[in-house]
Amino acid sequence: MTAPSIATHCPYCSLQCGISLACGEDGTIELTGRDDPINRGALCTKGTNAAELLGHPERLTTPLVRDFRGGPLRPASWDEALDRIVAAIRDAQARHGLDAVGCFGGGGLTNEKVYHLGKFARVALRSSNIDYNGRFCMSSAAAAGIRAFGVDRGMPFPFADIPGADVVLLVGSNPADTMPPAMRYFEEGRERGARHIVVDPRRTATADLAHRHLQPVPDTDLSLANGMLHIAIREGLVDEGYVADRTTGFDAVRRAVRSDWPDRVERTTGISVADMTETVCELARARTAMILTARGVEQHADGTATTQAWINLALALGLPGRGPSSGWGTVTGQGNGQGGREHGQKADQLPGYRTLTDPADRAHVAAVWGVEPDELPGPGVSAYELLDRLGTDGGVRVLLVAASNPVVSAPNARHVTQRLSCLDLLVVTDFVFSETAERADVVLPTTQWAEEDGTVTNPEGRVLLRRRAVDPPTGVRTDLEILHMIAARLGRGEFFPTDPGEVYAELCRASSGGIADYAGITYDRLAAGEQLCWPCPDTDHPGTPRMFLQSFATADGRARFVPVTPRFAAERPDADYPYLLTTGRSRAHYQSGAQTRRSPTLQRAEPEAYAELHPELAREIGVVHGGPVRLSTPRGAVVVRARLDPGIRRDTVFVPFHWGGAAGVNALTSDALDPTSRMPEFKTCPVAVEPADARSPHPGERVAAQSTVPLP
Ligand code: SF4
Repeated sequence: MTAPSIATHCPYCSLQCGISLACGEDGTIELTGRDDPINRGALCTKGTNAAELLGHPERLTTPLVRDFRGGPLRPASWDEALDRIVAAIRDAQARHGLDAVGCFGGGGLTNEKVYHLGKFARVALRSSNIDYNGRFCMSSAAAAGIRAFGVDRGMPFPFADIPGADVVLLVGSNPADTMPPAMRYFEEGRERGARHIVVDPRRTATADLAHRHLQPVPDTDLSLANGMLHIAIREGLVDEGYVADRTTGFDAVRRAVRSDWPDRVERTTGISVADMTETVCELARARTAMILTARGVEQHADGTATTQAWINLALALGLPGRGPSSGWGTVTGQGNGQGGREHGQKADQLPGYRTLTDPADRAHVAAVWGVEPDELPGPGVSAYELLDRLGTDGGVRVLLVAASNPVVSAPNARHVTQRLSCLDLLVVTDFVFSETAERADVVLPTTQWAEEDGTVTNPEGRVLLRRRAVDPPTGVRTDLEILHMIAARLGRGEFFPTDPGEVYAELCRASSGGIADYAGITYDRLAAGEQLCWPCPDTDHPGTPRMFLQSFATADGRARFVPVTPRFAAERPDADYPYLLTTGRSRAHYQSGAQTRRSPTLQRAEPEAYAELHPELAREIGVVHGGPVRLSTPRGAVVVRARLDPGIRRDTVFVPFHWGGAAGVNALTSDALDPTSRMPEFKTCPVAVEPADARSPHPGERVAAQSTVPLP
């Protein structure tokens, strides 16, 4: 007999599709798509197979400790593991100061966990050192959005607005592979006659469906956006009334793009003047139009400026806040990519998108937490900077990693892995044995999505309630319980309740009056089925699905233009590294792959990493489809199988980043950081490409236990 089903949400990407879980008395679990407003029952292959992780044989169920560096991990009691952690915290802080202990969080954590992890760093550890892997995902769009609009809500309008947009420009985004159920919004638009334009160096599944595909040289998006704005100004397409009434700073931007002559931009980007002109004209003349950007735009060392360039174009055309189905938005990637960046696990941030540098913000949050504002440390350093300094003078000596796998997902990953080995103690909380957990001194087994209550926030700012549907295995603890147990040993346990509802209610009080105001979004309202987007300041408030209709969240209510110009990249193709490497996601896997690589169905669908390259490039260098290809940058080399695809630019190679070991492409990526967002340069670096020869590996090549390519 099957028990009643529980309504919850998918554990993977930011779309957070509604699912139902029904658990039979015989232990079987039936997962189906639910008629949620977002996905209307549809799921992608990741969501469909998410239950394969529940009851997985590789599930961590007991704490593990390592007695000495290089020794094996062995099972331990919770008391032993926690005592070991607390002894290391006390020792490191006594010898090196409070900041010698740090936390590294994840964009997949629930809002409750994010909130408590930030509070734990500041109240229990009293350390400024906390950041998270969302820094590698959304930080550039967040920085640009705050600069332009005074607020960072990925999509200031609902997904349901997409079908109503007569023209959609989608830049650096591939929802057909990364979040297929979202494609229905685009399909509905095209069915009613909308025009869709995709900008991507690859002819992705999304580009295939569009009316026009602009295929620029990687890392030239900023020039492309500025070139289009130049054309809009020249052709008299700027919405001058909107610019005058609702914005500031356009004159400086007008001057800044004066030298972005279309023919010059054509030479830089490879996009013809005709294509640029036609695209701008379509956007400007449409009744409703939107520009959506994503990681392809944002994951660069100038990601903030590049996102800003697209926002400048949207503002010049009068799109943001015009009304339904117009505007600019960014499509988040991680499961709680939006909520994960709102409630305090960022280095400079307090809950509700408050800041650690504002005295009023500090006073408000300190009052909710029951501490003095002076007790709160100041801002810390960003994610890569934190990892880069591990074990150094002034750096973190004891690191707690929660639901993150930086050994696979951080840029320049071999260097990061080496830094992790310099710690006095590495603690990882996870429910699977990730590549980072493999290197930990203490591993703490946690519950996973369907085994606990909690909220997440989707890209629309819509808060969603995930419900506990199955019992966790004996021996695991929730992250909230783990934080409480460590805090209690540090004498601060009373600050850290373990009930998600209690933690969420406190989060609402801490966010009240802040930018991301959740005060009116209660568990009761969510459980009753209300669809609520922040800001929602009180329990009578209906939430705010569409922002900016009257004014922007800046001091004067106007959106801000910001002039941006192309930078000179630190690394450019040369004779040694003549091609451009870009990274991203595949259809079957999610983020570092720690979860999806353990799903038998998903692993069968996409069993190994691959390098997508143009057949002409493959012929030129002597690589065949399915053969091993070596990719090298100054940071090292990896070997993966070649997948030939005429849809990619001839000068570009794409590798998904879901694998570790010898196929871990982040061993190659650059750690150059955006000056504002501190986003690393994931999306482009010069690379050498050659047939792999197992008998003479490149000196930088990693040979790891998890190599997915059996070399001849
Ligand atoms: Fe899950 Fe995202 Fe797939 Fe929806 S699109 S089922 S949220 S992975």
